[in-house]
Amino acid sequence: MESTISDRSLPTDIDSTDNSPPLVNPAANGTPYRDLRLMKPLLDAIEHAGYTNCTPVQSAVIPAALKGLDVIGQAQTGTGKTAAFLVPFLNRWRPHSLKGPIGLVMLPTRELAMQVAEEAVKLAPSSKFRTVSVYGGTGMQRQLSQLASGCDLVVGTPGRIIDHLRRGTLTLDHVRYVVLDEADRMLDIGFRPDIERILRRCPDKRQTLLMSATVPDEIKRLVNRYMKDPLHLSLSPTNLTVDKIRQTYITVDKEKKFDLLLKVIEREKPRQCLIFVERKRWADDLLRKMKPHVPSTYAIHGDLPQSQREKIMAGFKSGKVTYLIATDVASRGIDVNGISHVINYDLPMDIENYVHRIGRTGRIGKDGVAIAFVTPEEGSHLTEIEIVINRLIEPDSIEGFEASAPKRRRHIDDPDEPRPQPVEGEPPAEPKKAVFGKFKKKYSSRL
Ligand code: ADP
Ligand code: MG
Repeated sequence: MESTISDRSLPTDIDSTDNSPPLVNPAANGTPYRDLRLMKPLLDAIEHAGYTNCTPVQSAVIPAALKGLDVIGQAQTGTGKTAAFLVPFLNRWRPHSLKGPIGLVMLPTRELAMQVAEEAVKLAPSSKFRTVSVYGGTGMQRQLSQLASGCDLVVGTPGRIIDHLRRGTLTLDHVRYVVLDEADRMLDIGFRPDIERILRRCPDKRQTLLMSATVPDEIKRLVNRYMKDPLHLSLSPTNLTVDKIRQTYITVDKEKKFDLLLKVIEREKPRQCLIFVERKRWADDLLRKMKPHVPSTYAIHGDLPQSQREKIMAGFKSGKVTYLIATDVASRGIDVNGISHVINYDLPMDIENYVHRIGRTGRIGKDGVAIAFVTPEEGSHLTEIEIVINRLIEPDSIEGFEASAPKRRRHIDDPDEPRPQPVEGEPPAEPKKAVFGKFKKKYSSRL
């Protein structure tokens, strides 16, 4: 069984002029590192890195992982997940004569592999601790010679790890600690078969950690198969900020969404606005339509070359780009503080994404606005979202677009909403229960 602990004590009052990653606040009320009973050389390295207190995800994950438990650490980008999974491993490290590696970190990209390897070097308790990063594209010779001379930790992309396993240049026989970092992104990229192949090659007697901003069903399946009674530590900051966000919906026919978007923009005059669509192609379609009306609009999605994505993201971060159309995958890692509006041009099919989407606004204590476009057929989907966020999303209207009640399959216990009347000739509807009450057990832990 998986248990869930939610932390509601994340700081929300961080200085908004601070340009550092927004959710990491060394001054926050996290556990001081010196209270964690870590090995002295490790503690020294941590202090040398300038970390005094744990970030919230570190406060949650490190003690559990130190006990040897399998852990799912769910938290947004920039919250300090790297140290959260490295510290427990480094604390256990002792000089040894194995060829290794004894620790394995899988992650989706070369950039992340380099970053995590860098952090491992920074936090290493000894100069004898050896980290090798393996990723595709370049550096095969260097990787081969580093692996050949033995190492403690391998940090790499699943594709290249498989490559080394096939060549026989890497063995996982001694691995006791496995981390899936940015698991949701790895699955989005299509690394699942490789990840499973690698996990099957790792000894059963091991500890497994999984770090992810979201935990969709596909990840849960992976967890059930490859992790042992994992503790699910959810620190998703979006859960905490949603209360500050004014959430509304507007009912609209599909073919009128674009006209509605222009009206909403005219009315709201967003400082910066993120517009979510469900498919990559739709992002391009919408961009084409918007450009003539709103020139400061750009779009990012997974098919854009990395360099172009980075350029657009930099523009958005600096405030030069006002409107950004994005898919859920491409929007991961957006940590821009100035977003005043999130428009759900398409409702997210994966309900969890709703929370992540709207959490892009209302950052670090600021208010935000989230407006969802709902077609008349999507009423029950809207209801499902309301169940997850445990509150009703208010109807909104704009000239020419009245928020008629979309068709809802399930009735929500709202005194203002008319209860569905039995239709003649059909059996009476089953008695309505308070939906929130019914789901309370399941969702209360994450709200
Ligand atoms: P994530 O993996 O959650 O996206 P990272 O592990 O990359 O986040 O950390 C984000 C930044 O925060 C890094 O620059 C890291 O050095 C810094 N950081 C991590 N933990 C702490 C801490 N306890 N105190 C101060 N800064 C930290
Ligand atoms: Mg990370």
